Amino acid sequence: MHGTRTLDEADRLMTVCNSCRYCEGLCAVFPAMEMRRAFSDGDLNYLANLCHACGACYVDCQFSPPHEFNVNVPKTLAVARAESYAAYAWPQALSGAFARNGLVISMVAALSMAAFILGFAALNERGVLFGVHTGPGAFYKLMPHNAMAALFGAAFLYAVLALVMSVRAFWRDIGPPIGGRADGGSIFQAMRDAGELRYLHGGGVGCYNEDDKPTDRRKLFHHLTFYGFVLCFAATSVATLYHYLLGREAPYPWWDLPVLLGTLGGIGLVIGPVGLFAAKMRRDPALLDEQRYGMDVGFNAMLLLTGLTGMLLLVLRETGAMGPLLALHLGAVFALFITMPYGKFVHGIYRFAALVRYAQERRTAA
Ligand code: SF4
Ligand code: SF4
Repeated sequence: MHGTRTLDEADRLMTVCNSCRYCEGLCAVFPAMEMRRAFSDGDLNYLANLCHACGACYVDCQFSPPHEFNVNVPKTLAVARAESYAAYAWPQALSGAFARNGLVISMVAALSMAAFILGFAALNERGVLFGVHTGPGAFYKLMPHNAMAALFGAAFLYAVLALVMSVRAFWRDIGPPIGGRADGGSIFQAMRDAGELRYLHGGGVGCYNEDDKPTDRRKLFHHLTFYGFVLCFAATSVATLYHYLLGREAPYPWWDLPVLLGTLGGIGLVIGPVGLFAAKMRRDPALLDEQRYGMDVGFNAMLLLTGLTGMLLLVLRETGAMGPLLALHLGAVFALFITMPYGKFVHGIYRFAALVRYAQERRTAA
Protein backbone atom coordinates (compact mmCIF):
# COMPACT_ATOMS: atom_id res chain seq x y z
CA MET A 1 0.00 0.00 0.00
CA HIS A 2 1.21 3.50 -0.85
CA GLY A 3 0.48 6.92 0.60
CA THR A 4 -2.32 7.66 -1.88
CA ARG A 5 -4.66 5.80 -4.22
CA THR A 6 -2.96 7.49 -7.17
CA LEU A 7 0.39 6.02 -6.12
CA ASP A 8 -1.26 2.59 -5.69
CA GLU A 9 -2.51 2.87 -9.27
CA ALA A 10 0.89 4.12 -10.51
CA ASP A 11 2.52 1.11 -8.82
CA ARG A 12 0.05 -1.24 -10.54
CA LEU A 13 0.75 0.31 -13.94
CA MET A 14 4.54 0.32 -13.50
CA THR A 15 4.38 -3.36 -12.51
CA VAL A 16 2.40 -4.17 -15.68
CA CYS A 17 4.77 -2.04 -17.80
CA ASN A 18 7.82 -3.65 -16.22
CA SER A 19 6.59 -7.02 -17.49
CA CYS A 20 5.62 -5.69 -20.91
CA ARG A 21 8.42 -3.17 -21.68
CA TYR A 22 6.99 -2.42 -25.13
CA CYS A 23 7.42 1.35 -24.57
CA GLU A 24 11.02 1.35 -23.36
CA GLY A 25 12.25 3.43 -26.32
CA LEU A 26 9.67 6.19 -25.95
CA CYS A 27 11.09 8.30 -23.12
CA ALA A 28 13.10 8.26 -19.89
CA VAL A 29 10.29 6.88 -17.70
CA PHE A 30 10.46 3.30 -18.92
CA PRO A 31 14.28 2.82 -18.73
CA ALA A 32 14.19 4.35 -15.22
CA MET A 33 11.33 2.02 -14.31
CA GLU A 34 13.29 -0.99 -15.58
CA MET A 35 16.08 -0.25 -13.10
CA ARG A 36 13.62 -1.03 -10.28
CA ARG A 37 11.84 -4.21 -9.20
CA ALA A 38 9.59 -2.54 -6.62
CA PHE A 39 8.44 1.06 -6.32
CA SER A 40 8.45 3.21 -3.20
CA ASP A 41 6.36 6.42 -3.01
CA GLY A 42 9.54 8.36 -3.81
CA ASP A 43 10.28 6.16 -6.86
CA LEU A 44 6.77 6.72 -8.22
CA ASN A 45 6.98 10.48 -7.66
CA TYR A 46 10.34 10.44 -9.45
CA LEU A 47 8.88 8.56 -12.44
CA ALA A 48 5.81 10.83 -12.47
CA ASN A 49 8.01 13.92 -12.71
CA LEU A 50 10.19 12.31 -15.36
CA CYS A 51 7.12 11.91 -17.58
CA HIS A 52 6.67 14.79 -20.09
CA ALA A 53 3.05 13.90 -20.90
CA CYS A 54 3.72 13.26 -24.61
CA GLY A 55 0.86 10.74 -24.66
CA ALA A 56 2.73 8.19 -26.82
CA CYS A 57 2.53 5.32 -24.34
CA TYR A 58 -1.27 5.69 -24.22
CA VAL A 59 -1.66 5.62 -28.00
CA ASP A 60 0.81 2.73 -28.40
CA CYS A 61 -0.43 0.62 -25.51
CA GLN A 62 -2.31 -2.59 -26.29
CA PHE A 63 -3.67 -2.58 -22.72
CA SER A 64 -5.17 0.92 -22.69
CA PRO A 65 -8.98 1.25 -22.23
CA PRO A 66 -11.27 -0.46 -23.10
CA HIS A 67 -8.84 -3.31 -22.31
CA GLU A 68 -9.54 -4.74 -18.87
CA PHE A 69 -5.99 -3.88 -17.70
CA ASN A 70 -7.03 -0.23 -18.06
CA VAL A 71 -3.47 1.03 -18.53
CA ASN A 72 -3.32 4.82 -18.82
CA VAL A 73 0.21 5.83 -17.89
CA PRO A 74 0.13 9.52 -18.99
CA LYS A 75 -3.00 10.36 -17.00
CA THR A 76 -2.02 8.43 -13.87
CA LEU A 77 1.45 9.98 -13.85
CA ALA A 78 -0.07 13.44 -14.48
CA VAL A 79 -2.26 13.09 -11.38
CA ALA A 80 0.64 11.65 -9.34
CA ARG A 81 2.86 14.51 -10.52
CA ALA A 82 0.36 17.15 -9.44
CA GLU A 83 -0.18 15.42 -6.07
CA SER A 84 3.59 15.32 -5.55
CA TYR A 85 3.73 19.14 -5.79
CA ALA A 86 1.37 19.38 -2.82
CA ALA A 87 3.11 16.55 -0.93
CA TYR A 88 6.49 18.33 -1.00
CA ALA A 89 5.23 21.93 -0.74
CA TRP A 90 6.87 24.28 1.75
CA PRO A 91 5.48 25.23 4.15
CA GLN A 92 3.19 22.18 4.30
CA ALA A 93 0.38 24.33 5.70
CA LEU A 94 0.10 25.90 2.22
CA SER A 95 0.00 22.60 0.29
CA GLY A 96 -3.76 23.03 -0.17
CA ALA A 97 -3.02 26.12 -2.29
CA PHE A 98 -2.28 23.82 -5.25
CA ALA A 99 -5.91 22.73 -5.32
CA ARG A 100 -7.12 26.33 -5.29
CA ASN A 101 -4.43 27.98 -7.39
CA GLY A 102 -6.57 28.61 -10.42
CA LEU A 103 -7.33 31.39 -12.78
CA VAL A 104 -9.51 33.32 -10.34
CA ILE A 105 -6.90 33.39 -7.54
CA SER A 106 -4.15 34.49 -9.95
CA MET A 107 -6.30 37.22 -11.47
CA VAL A 108 -7.43 38.49 -8.06
CA ALA A 109 -3.79 38.62 -6.90
CA ALA A 110 -2.70 40.48 -10.07
CA LEU A 111 -5.57 42.97 -9.98
CA SER A 112 -5.18 43.55 -6.23
CA MET A 113 -1.51 44.42 -6.63
CA ALA A 114 -2.29 46.65 -9.64
CA ALA A 115 -4.97 48.42 -7.56
CA PHE A 116 -2.50 48.78 -4.68
CA ILE A 117 0.09 50.41 -6.95
CA LEU A 118 -2.50 52.70 -8.52
CA GLY A 119 -3.78 53.64 -5.05
CA PHE A 120 -0.23 54.23 -3.85
CA ALA A 121 0.41 56.57 -6.78
CA ALA A 122 -2.93 58.38 -6.46
CA LEU A 123 -2.36 59.00 -2.75
CA ASN A 124 0.98 60.62 -3.48
CA GLU A 125 -0.04 62.63 -6.51
CA ARG A 126 -3.32 62.02 -8.36
CA GLY A 127 -2.16 63.55 -11.64
CA VAL A 128 0.68 61.11 -11.97
CA LEU A 129 -1.59 58.18 -12.94
CA PHE A 130 -2.57 59.33 -16.41
CA GLY A 131 0.26 61.79 -16.94
CA VAL A 132 2.77 61.48 -19.79
CA HIS A 133 6.21 60.68 -18.37
CA THR A 134 9.27 60.27 -20.52
CA GLY A 135 13.01 59.82 -20.09
CA PRO A 136 15.04 57.97 -17.45
CA GLY A 137 13.13 57.40 -14.21
CA ALA A 138 9.68 57.81 -15.86
CA PHE A 139 8.44 54.48 -14.40
CA TYR A 140 9.35 55.56 -10.88
CA LYS A 141 6.93 58.50 -10.99
CA LEU A 142 4.28 55.89 -10.20
CA MET A 143 6.17 54.25 -7.36
CA PRO A 144 9.74 55.02 -6.17
CA HIS A 145 12.31 52.47 -7.32
CA ASN A 146 13.26 51.47 -3.77
CA ALA A 147 9.64 50.72 -2.80
CA MET A 148 9.19 48.71 -6.01
CA ALA A 149 12.45 46.79 -5.48
CA ALA A 150 11.58 46.02 -1.83
CA LEU A 151 8.08 44.76 -2.69
CA PHE A 152 9.10 42.60 -5.63
CA GLY A 153 12.43 41.53 -4.13
CA ALA A 154 10.60 40.18 -1.03
CA ALA A 155 8.04 38.30 -3.17
CA PHE A 156 10.79 36.86 -5.37
CA LEU A 157 12.98 35.78 -2.45
CA TYR A 158 10.02 34.10 -0.76
CA ALA A 159 9.23 32.22 -3.99
CA VAL A 160 12.87 31.08 -4.30
CA LEU A 161 12.98 29.93 -0.65
CA ALA A 162 9.71 28.00 -0.93
CA LEU A 163 10.83 26.37 -4.19
CA VAL A 164 14.25 25.38 -2.81
CA MET A 165 12.72 23.86 0.33
CA SER A 166 10.11 21.87 -1.60
CA VAL A 167 12.48 20.51 -4.25
CA ARG A 168 14.89 19.57 -1.45
CA ALA A 169 12.15 17.45 0.14
CA PHE A 170 11.42 15.87 -3.28
CA TRP A 171 15.11 15.15 -3.89
CA ARG A 172 15.47 13.47 -0.50
CA ASP A 173 12.32 11.40 -0.94
CA ILE A 174 13.29 9.99 -4.33
CA GLY A 175 16.27 8.45 -2.52
CA PRO A 176 19.87 8.01 -3.56
CA PRO A 177 20.41 7.28 -7.26
CA ILE A 178 20.85 3.64 -8.05
CA GLY A 179 24.63 3.24 -7.77
CA GLY A 180 25.41 6.88 -8.54
CA ARG A 181 26.31 10.24 -7.04
CA ALA A 182 25.53 13.84 -7.97
CA ASP A 183 28.06 15.10 -10.50
CA GLY A 184 28.49 18.01 -12.89
CA GLY A 185 28.12 15.82 -15.98
CA SER A 186 24.65 14.67 -14.90
CA ILE A 187 23.54 18.24 -14.27
CA PHE A 188 24.83 19.28 -17.70
CA GLN A 189 23.04 16.34 -19.34
CA ALA A 190 19.81 17.26 -17.53
CA MET A 191 20.16 20.88 -18.71
CA ARG A 192 20.46 19.65 -22.30
CA ASP A 193 17.49 17.29 -21.95
CA ALA A 194 15.35 20.00 -20.36
CA GLY A 195 16.50 22.70 -22.83
CA GLU A 196 15.58 20.49 -25.81
CA LEU A 197 12.48 18.97 -24.16
CA ARG A 198 14.01 15.71 -25.32
CA TYR A 199 11.25 13.53 -23.88
CA LEU A 200 8.32 15.48 -25.30
CA HIS A 201 8.74 13.74 -28.62
CA GLY A 202 6.88 10.43 -28.33
CA GLY A 203 9.98 8.40 -29.16
CA GLY A 204 10.92 10.66 -32.10
CA VAL A 205 7.63 11.18 -33.91
CA GLY A 206 6.20 14.08 -31.87
CA CYS A 207 3.67 14.62 -29.14
CA TYR A 208 0.13 13.19 -29.09
CA ASN A 209 -2.57 15.61 -28.07
CA GLU A 210 -6.04 15.54 -29.59
CA ASP A 211 -5.77 12.44 -31.81
CA ASP A 212 -3.36 9.70 -32.85
CA LYS A 213 -1.39 11.98 -35.18
CA PRO A 214 1.78 13.18 -33.43
CA THR A 215 3.05 16.74 -33.98
CA ASP A 216 5.71 19.03 -32.50
CA ARG A 217 3.20 21.84 -31.78
CA ARG A 218 3.16 21.45 -27.98
CA LYS A 219 6.93 21.30 -27.91
CA LEU A 220 7.19 24.49 -30.00
CA PHE A 221 4.74 26.42 -27.79
CA HIS A 222 6.44 25.13 -24.66
CA HIS A 223 9.80 26.30 -26.04
CA LEU A 224 8.35 29.74 -26.82
CA THR A 225 6.94 30.00 -23.30
CA PHE A 226 10.06 28.76 -21.52
CA TYR A 227 12.58 30.78 -23.51
CA GLY A 228 10.27 33.80 -23.42
CA PHE A 229 10.27 33.56 -19.63
CA VAL A 230 14.08 33.16 -19.55
CA LEU A 231 14.57 36.19 -21.83
CA CYS A 232 12.23 38.35 -19.73
CA PHE A 233 14.08 37.29 -16.60
CA ALA A 234 17.39 38.15 -18.32
CA ALA A 235 15.97 41.56 -19.34
CA THR A 236 15.01 42.32 -15.72
CA SER A 237 18.42 41.14 -14.47
CA VAL A 238 20.30 43.32 -16.98
CA ALA A 239 18.10 46.31 -16.09
CA THR A 240 18.88 45.74 -12.39
CA LEU A 241 22.60 45.74 -13.16
CA TYR A 242 22.18 48.93 -15.24
CA HIS A 243 20.40 50.57 -12.30
CA TYR A 244 22.77 49.62 -9.52
CA LEU A 245 26.11 49.34 -11.34
CA LEU A 246 25.81 52.01 -14.05
CA GLY A 247 23.29 54.32 -12.42
CA ARG A 248 21.07 54.15 -15.53
CA GLU A 249 17.32 54.28 -14.85
CA ALA A 250 14.50 52.64 -16.84
CA PRO A 251 12.89 53.02 -19.31
CA TYR A 252 15.66 52.35 -21.81
CA PRO A 253 15.72 53.07 -25.55
CA TRP A 254 14.34 50.35 -27.85
CA TRP A 255 17.82 49.32 -29.06
CA ASP A 256 19.20 48.78 -25.55
CA LEU A 257 19.79 45.25 -24.23
CA PRO A 258 17.01 45.07 -21.59
CA VAL A 259 14.42 46.20 -24.18
CA LEU A 260 15.68 43.84 -26.88
CA LEU A 261 15.67 40.88 -24.48
CA GLY A 262 12.29 41.90 -23.05
CA THR A 263 10.74 42.31 -26.51
CA LEU A 264 11.86 38.88 -27.71
CA GLY A 265 10.82 37.35 -24.38
CA GLY A 266 7.46 39.15 -24.46
CA ILE A 267 6.69 37.78 -27.94
CA GLY A 268 7.41 34.26 -26.64
CA LEU A 269 5.25 34.86 -23.57
CA VAL A 270 2.30 35.90 -25.72
CA ILE A 271 2.45 33.24 -28.46
CA GLY A 272 3.59 30.33 -26.24
CA PRO A 273 0.84 30.40 -23.57
CA VAL A 274 -1.89 30.99 -26.20
CA GLY A 275 -0.64 27.94 -28.14
CA LEU A 276 -0.42 25.81 -24.99
CA PHE A 277 -3.90 26.86 -23.93
CA ALA A 278 -5.32 26.03 -27.37
CA ALA A 279 -3.58 22.62 -27.23
CA LYS A 280 -5.04 21.97 -23.76
CA MET A 281 -8.54 22.84 -24.98
CA ARG A 282 -8.17 20.25 -27.76
CA ARG A 283 -6.42 17.58 -25.67
CA ASP A 284 -7.96 14.13 -25.58
CA PRO A 285 -9.90 13.98 -22.26
CA ALA A 286 -8.40 10.52 -21.68
CA LEU A 287 -5.00 12.21 -21.16
CA LEU A 288 -6.21 15.19 -19.11
CA ASP A 289 -5.98 15.66 -15.34
CA GLU A 290 -9.24 17.63 -15.16
CA GLN A 291 -8.87 18.42 -11.46
CA ARG A 292 -5.71 20.45 -12.12
CA TYR A 293 -7.14 22.28 -15.12
CA GLY A 294 -7.43 25.55 -13.13
CA MET A 295 -3.81 25.37 -11.96
CA ASP A 296 -2.56 24.99 -15.54
CA VAL A 297 -4.80 27.70 -16.94
CA GLY A 298 -4.02 30.12 -14.08
CA PHE A 299 -0.27 29.84 -14.69
CA ASN A 300 -0.67 30.20 -18.44
CA ALA A 301 -2.90 33.24 -17.95
CA MET A 302 -0.36 34.96 -15.68
CA LEU A 303 2.43 34.37 -18.20
CA LEU A 304 0.24 35.70 -20.99
CA LEU A 305 -0.82 38.74 -18.97
CA THR A 306 2.82 39.45 -18.08
CA GLY A 307 3.90 39.22 -21.71
CA LEU A 308 0.94 41.16 -23.08
CA THR A 309 1.12 44.06 -20.60
CA GLY A 310 4.92 44.19 -21.03
CA MET A 311 4.56 44.53 -24.82
CA LEU A 312 1.78 47.12 -24.53
CA LEU A 313 3.89 49.05 -22.03
CA LEU A 314 6.75 49.11 -24.51
CA VAL A 315 4.54 50.49 -27.28
CA LEU A 316 2.54 52.96 -25.13
CA ARG A 317 5.13 53.99 -22.55
CA GLU A 318 5.23 57.59 -23.79
CA THR A 319 1.46 58.07 -23.53
CA GLY A 320 -1.02 58.60 -20.69
CA ALA A 321 -1.67 54.83 -20.66
CA MET A 322 1.77 54.18 -19.17
CA GLY A 323 0.65 54.44 -15.51
CA PRO A 324 -2.28 51.94 -15.61
CA LEU A 325 -0.34 49.59 -17.89
CA LEU A 326 2.71 49.61 -15.63
CA ALA A 327 0.49 48.91 -12.59
CA LEU A 328 -1.17 46.00 -14.42
CA HIS A 329 2.18 44.64 -15.61
CA LEU A 330 3.66 44.78 -12.12
CA GLY A 331 0.48 43.22 -10.70
CA ALA A 332 0.84 40.28 -13.12
CA VAL A 333 4.52 39.83 -12.24
CA PHE A 334 3.73 39.97 -8.52
CA ALA A 335 0.93 37.38 -8.89
CA LEU A 336 3.32 35.19 -10.88
CA PHE A 337 5.92 35.36 -8.10
CA ILE A 338 3.63 34.62 -5.16
CA THR A 339 1.76 31.79 -6.92
CA MET A 340 5.00 30.28 -8.32
CA PRO A 341 5.70 27.84 -5.43
CA TYR A 342 2.06 26.69 -5.36
CA GLY A 343 1.18 26.42 -9.03
CA LYS A 344 2.18 24.92 -12.36
CA PHE A 345 5.55 26.69 -12.35
CA VAL A 346 6.95 23.99 -10.04
CA HIS A 347 6.67 21.35 -12.78
CA GLY A 348 9.82 22.76 -14.40
CA ILE A 349 11.84 22.52 -11.18
CA TYR A 350 10.71 19.01 -10.24
CA ARG A 351 11.13 17.72 -13.77
CA PHE A 352 14.65 19.13 -13.92
CA ALA A 353 15.52 17.40 -10.61
CA ALA A 354 14.10 14.13 -12.00
CA LEU A 355 16.20 14.56 -15.17
CA VAL A 356 19.35 15.04 -13.06
CA ARG A 357 18.53 11.84 -11.17
CA TYR A 358 17.92 9.98 -14.44
CA ALA A 359 21.22 11.23 -15.91
CA GLN A 360 23.03 10.03 -12.76
CA GLU A 361 21.48 6.58 -13.07
CA ARG A 362 22.31 6.29 -16.76
CA ARG A 363 25.91 7.36 -16.28
CA THR A 364 26.28 4.72 -13.59
CA ALA A 365 24.63 2.04 -15.69
CA ALA A 366 26.76 2.83 -18.78
S1 SF4 B 1 2.16 1.47 -21.52
FE1 SF4 B 1 1.24 -0.45 -22.25
S2 SF4 B 1 2.46 -1.06 -24.01
FE2 SF4 B 1 3.63 0.48 -22.87
S3 SF4 B 1 4.98 -0.71 -21.51
FE3 SF4 B 1 3.11 -0.20 -20.37
S4 SF4 B 1 1.75 -1.94 -20.66
FE4 SF4 B 1 3.35 -2.08 -22.22
S1 SF4 C 1 3.36 10.08 -21.69
FE1 SF4 C 1 5.25 10.18 -22.91
S2 SF4 C 1 6.78 10.89 -21.46
FE2 SF4 C 1 5.05 10.14 -20.23
S3 SF4 C 1 5.51 8.01 -19.78
FE3 SF4 C 1 4.30 8.03 -21.65
S4 SF4 C 1 5.79 8.04 -23.31
FE4 SF4 C 1 6.86 8.65 -21.44
